[in-house]
Amino acid sequence: MKGKVYLVGAGPGDPELLTLKALRLLRTAEAVLHDDLVAPEILTLIPPTAQIYNVGKRRGKKKILQGEINGLMVALASSGLRVVRLKGGDPLIFGRAGEEIEALRANSIPFEIVPGVTSALGAAAAVRIPLTHRRASSALVLITAHRASESRSFRLRASEPDAPEKDAPEKDPADWSKLVTSGATLVIHMPGQDYSDIARRLMAAGLAGETPCAIVSRATTRRQRTHRTTVRDLRRAPQLAAPTLLLVGEVVSLADPAAMVDEFVAPGLPPGNGRLLPVAIFQDIPLPGAKPGSR
Ligand code: SAH
Repeated sequence: MKGKVYLVGAGPGDPELLTLKALRLLRTAEAVLHDDLVAPEILTLIPPTAQIYNVGKRRGKKKILQGEINGLMVALASSGLRVVRLKGGDPLIFGRAGEEIEALRANSIPFEIVPGVTSALGAAAAVRIPLTHRRASSALVLITAHRASESRSFRLRASEPDAPEKDAPEKDPADWSKLVTSGATLVIHMPGQDYSDIARRLMAAGLAGETPCAIVSRATTRRQRTHRTTVRDLRRAPQLAAPTLLLVGEVVSLADPAAMVDEFVAPGLPPGNGRLLPVAIFQDIPLPGAKPGSR
């Protein structure tokens, strides 16, 4: 009998941004394959009886190829298990879910997709940027700065956790000039840590040097850091720890200065140096159909 695979979004970092559906699936999972970007608090929700595989790119010395992840997922489901494939943010945004879906279809494995709060939305909320303020921008573009080809100037640093692998050809990224001149707010994923190329490319595409932009590092976690600047001055920005997002557009000038602070503190909780949120926050949430107090 075949099991089933759930492609589940774990949200951007703050464990309270997990959906109730993701919580239920994690609590009842028999095998979990997770990425590096998933918050440790969320991993504590997995039952001790479940098999847990960290298939993140930084695990150990040997890089795990996408094909190996697909193979493991298919093998676990084929043995009849309820498998959760847990990804940071939303599984369908730059998460290579497309290849995993193809592998599941090819092997006739039933699957379901459970959306998560994508990091772009988590970052915007954390620094209080109205992504589509009606007087400043009427569109939102999610884009990656990564270019697959070695010969291009856009190279991702090895330190970037979700660096796309070399095991599959990738489509060239979109032509930025069309996006930039559309006036849309841009959220640039995987910007790496050398911003000069991005700044040059944005200006070459027609964006004014004075356009405001913000780097948001480790958005919605206790180690969130932000830096606000302009596209012209981006090359002088500090190197913030991965994962980072670059938000670009007039709406960035509306960011709340109070939210652009050194350390983000989840509302209602005292500050702490990377201390984990108590998992107890989830324990009062009953599973559908469960009797109160039972798990
Ligand atoms: N599926 C994920 C994105 C995967 S690509 C999502 O929906 O968010 C990985 C990239 O997402 C990182 O390189 C970074 O650019 C961005 N990212 C993910 N989590 C982040 C976070 N907490 N803070 C800032 N950027 C983040």
